[in-house]
Amino acid sequence: MGAYSIVKFGNKALREKSKVVEDVNDDIRKLAEDMLATMREADGIGLAAEQIGRNEAICIIDVPKEHACDIKMPLVLINLKVIEKDGELHEQEGCLSFPDVYIKVHRSKEVTATYTDLEGKQQTVKATGLLSRAIQHELDHLNGVLLVDHMSPVQKVANAGKLKRMKRAAKPIF
Ligand code: ZN
Repeated sequence: MGAYSIVKFGNKALREKSKVVEDVNDDIRKLAEDMLATMREADGIGLAAEQIGRNEAICIIDVPKEHACDIKMPLVLINLKVIEKDGELHEQEGCLSFPDVYIKVHRSKEVTATYTDLEGKQQTVKATGLLSRAIQHELDHLNGVLLVDHMSPVQKVANAGKLKRMKRAAKPIF
């Protein structure tokens, strides 16, 4: 139990669309706990269920306090939805499923998102900066969208070797 291994680019699990969590029960709470252990072991700031080969609509985020917009971390987001976006950011992003790949990604500067918490209660979160980007990045995962989909042709060429090696190394986990 505890940490899972993280699914890397090239594995089709990352392209799955997540399924809405209807009931926040002990299985879901256990999954969230295992995801936290996995993310911490990998030293990440966010992780979506797809990245451990699951398809429940759950992601977790743990950004440093100074970027947390006064929200208590770690954040477990079930059935995450972004309902408002504002402004623009163009910052460097990485992903635990793309080791050693860092690219600049266009994101909204601020987002308002809704989610269900581990008690099954509906919550709303307003985020800016790094937390806003993390929410958008994890929401992408829940929709099967990956860092590679944000790459410009130039970024794709620059990372072609790494992407190729990842695809070659990817083993189906099912
Ligand atoms: Zn990611």
